[in-house]
Amino acid sequence: MEFRLRCASFAAFASVAVPLFAFSAPPKPTVAPKSAAKRLLVVTVTKGFRHSDSIPVAEKLIAEMGAKSGAFTVDYVRTDADMAAKMNPEALKAYDGVVFASTTGDLPLPDRDAFLKWVADGHAFIGVHAASDTFHGFKPYLEMVGGEFKTHGPQSWVTCRVEDKTHPATRNLGGARLVYDEIYQFKNYDRARFQGLLTLDRHPNDGTPGDYPIAWCRNEGKGRVFYTALGHRPDVWSQSWYQAHVLGGIRWALHQDNARTNSTTTAR
Ligand SMILES: [Zn+2]
Repeated sequence: MEFRLRCASFAAFASVAVPLFAFSAPPKPTVAPKSAAKRLLVVTVTKGFRHSDSIPVAEKLIAEMGAKSGAFTVDYVRTDADMAAKMNPEALKAYDGVVFASTTGDLPLPDRDAFLKWVADGHAFIGVHAASDTFHGFKPYLEMVGGEFKTHGPQSWVTCRVEDKTHPATRNLGGARLVYDEIYQFKNYDRARFQGLLTLDRHPNDGTPGDYPIAWCRNEGKGRVFYTALGHRPDVWSQSWYQAHVLGGIRWALHQDNARTNSTTTAR
């Protein structure tokens, strides 16, 4: 009797205890560790012309690109105070790269030389549109970007020829991309110092044959630089192929995507 009671007690205990034992097992991870995501500063301070319609779109979409891809998180530098706090040499140690999204003019970087050294030490610089219309009086910055904004004419339809069909920024764009945007022309660039990604073979407004680079990439020491002149218009930002172009450039500059494989897939 006593034995049966003990058994009954054990059985009653076991009926509750088994699921508890099961729950005590360590849970299996179902998602990749968040630590893989890089940290990106999106800089939108302007001291010259301000692209007030496309900058908010850029800020929102870059954050969405990072969240959807899981590749990076973003923080913003929108004011001089943000720049002083987040872009001094000590604060930059918390980040893996920067996006200059249509910055203009002489930005109040706390230490311009230290910033360039930070890039060359292995970090990412992504320049969009007016990033080349920034620091005209600071040649080392322009040399790091790879070219300097010279002028632009009226907005126009252009056919961007894909120079590198294997690069993450352009491998999904097919052989050429038709786009309506404000098209920059450059000075102080040397094709030997960058890898062309998108280019025009004729003047964007008068059609004169020539060499008009639109997007490129380059190594700066151990760092990587990606620049695209496109992105003046908010509706350019809204197009999936452009987002794929920018995201591919960001991920390449962050050393997250080194693949240079041919693809026949075009961006949706
Ligand atoms: Zn513009």
